[in-house]
Amino acid sequence: MVAYPRLNGTLQTTTPVDNIVTAREELYEYLEDSKTTQTHAELMREMVRVYMESEELTEGTFATSAFTSMYEPFEFVEGSYVGNFDVHDESLFIKDVETLIKAFGGGYSKSEKLVANAQAFLDMQDKYKVNAIFAAAVSITETGAGRTGNAINGCRNWFNITGTDGPYKTVTNKYGETYHWRIYETDYDGIDAFGKFISGAGKTQRYYPQGNFTVADIGKIYCPNTSVHPTQADDWIESTLAQMSRFYEAVGIDISPIIEPSGGMLGTATGDLKDLFPNGIPTTEAEMRQYLTTITININDANGNKTTRQITVHKAVADDVKEIFDDIQRSGFKIKSVGAYSWRSAAASSSRSHHSYGVAIDINPDENYMIKDGNVVAGSFWKPGQNEFSISSNGAVVKAFSAKGWSWGGNWKSSKDYMHFSLTGR
Ligand SMILES: [Zn+2]
Repeated sequence: MVAYPRLNGTLQTTTPVDNIVTAREELYEYLEDSKTTQTHAELMREMVRVYMESEELTEGTFATSAFTSMYEPFEFVEGSYVGNFDVHDESLFIKDVETLIKAFGGGYSKSEKLVANAQAFLDMQDKYKVNAIFAAAVSITETGAGRTGNAINGCRNWFNITGTDGPYKTVTNKYGETYHWRIYETDYDGIDAFGKFISGAGKTQRYYPQGNFTVADIGKIYCPNTSVHPTQADDWIESTLAQMSRFYEAVGIDISPIIEPSGGMLGTATGDLKDLFPNGIPTTEAEMRQYLTTITININDANGNKTTRQITVHKAVADDVKEIFDDIQRSGFKIKSVGAYSWRSAAASSSRSHHSYGVAIDINPDENYMIKDGNVVAGSFWKPGQNEFSISSNGAVVKAFSAKGWSWGGNWKSSKDYMHFSLTGR
């Protein structure tokens, strides 16, 4: 059993490029033949496997950069994505065809088919309220935007949709898995089918009707981790979100605060809103009230004196939060200001802040600012090591939250929110 290396850009490049040519050809062959749902990562892994079998490579000698350059525009991203991008949230929709074409063209190097079908994506979005950028990203994850697999085998099935509710083709793959791939008459129909599928407007009732609105929710079902494909969902989510952020970036929209890897080495966010709100995520302050509790936490005040504060949080995290602050108090860290529940939109974004759900906490905001694109959004500065109220990356505060599965806004990649901790990574 080959343990596939996780390709995250940290591996060393020591393998000469001419050795890779064979692997590349084998990969293309694999691509042509494969009938399985594929993420880019899966393809890369297959290439690594082919290569490792012939050369007995180890992680240390694997040529990441050479492989990566062969499969543009794939990029490996470290850490696990939170994936809380709500694909149903219309404030995140791109609604005109010119902007969508610009996003497609700027965000994907082989975008001809996407560009040619931009109107189909918009119509799908309009009809089913499924984000067109999300759909386009999924089509890349699944079939290179209609260029590989079940899309090119006469099926025009851009999303590798299975089912027997219309024409289909039955295929057993090399893992012995049998699938009924849907066949569509036109690319337009293939794209429309995705909106229908996700929204639950068709016979399949697995996504929207079940309250699965985020990329992570959908990815886990669309492409589950199984014993045959142990990281399929993770890769699908990662690949889709990375592609979405490239599309949005091409038209000047930064979605990184919504999708950032949550914490890297120090803690990956473990909370999911769906688990916190099994009966549905509250949409009003009144609905939220039943989930809240006000707790007393132990802290050191600005002068270093032991004292207490009251904060309001989701009932499910109350005990953990008390323990987190006990840890912080023991470390000697001084707290001037702390805030948790607050029903509001996120700063510099139209989506709801996770402070609204009682699972985000801000500490010393003035000395731990939020900064986005070089602009200070909240607070005054961040000077860890110099200012005793600033939070250090490897300090006790980050560790205390991390130990309970909370992540830190200081670990977000493009924007930084140094005051901010959350269970959900948002
Ligand atoms: Zn915050």
